[in-house]
Amino acid sequence: MTALSRRALFGGAAALATVWAAPRAALAQAAPPTGPHRLADLPYAFDANEAAIDARTMELHWRFHHGAQVNNLNNALREHTALHDMPLDRLLMNLGQVPEGVRTAVRNNGGGHANHTMFWAIMGGRGGEPGGDLAAAIARDFGDFSTLRTRFNQAANGVFGSGWAFVTVTGEGRLAIATRPNQDNPLMDGQRVLIGNDVWEHAYYLRYQNRRAEYTAAWWNVLDWNRIGERFAAARAGTLGV
Ligand code: MN
Repeated sequence: MTALSRRALFGGAAALATVWAAPRAALAQAAPPTGPHRLADLPYAFDANEAAIDARTMELHWRFHHGAQVNNLNNALREHTALHDMPLDRLLMNLGQVPEGVRTAVRNNGGGHANHTMFWAIMGGRGGEPGGDLAAAIARDFGDFSTLRTRFNQAANGVFGSGWAFVTVTGEGRLAIATRPNQDNPLMDGQRVLIGNDVWEHAYYLRYQNRRAEYTAAWWNVLDWNRIGERFAAARAGTLGV
């Protein structure tokens, strides 16, 4: 059945669904990016994080929110070709080198690109608890994993308006909780991110509406501690990017 005949038959909600489907299909075949940065595919299906985040939120969040930030970052950098070869983490650590006219755009959209790239990378798992060196670091710096989770959620729930909560990690493997407003990232202060949770309303509103604390509590159920353990090792080896 064609979209037109479906619309003619059902009208109303079906027509809305057709309208909704069309731009998604078009965007899926969009031209490749025209700048140095690109929106990578998610490393899992949209429903992979269903235990905390519904598939529609995952798709909207990745395709439109993150996607727009990548496009806006590329647009901001378009005429600044000297910055095209600078990796995203270096760009955010050196915002002072970005021309003033595009610095805010690079901060907001480059920060958003880094934050979301990290966010997708640490999910797709089944929660549980970390092991190995990371578990030992958590015990040293927080007492135990449960305390880390409680303190992190308190920080995330306490972010006023839009922003992020993070666990930062030093080259020595020291862990700390941090929050940032908007799309700021600890890289802007020379710190590396182990994990972070997006507490912008777009991250959770479809399923949780105003109940942010329910979202932040459920989020731990989809973390991939193998991947996070790899990030911890990379931080200590000096090879962790965004
Ligand atoms: Mn987001």
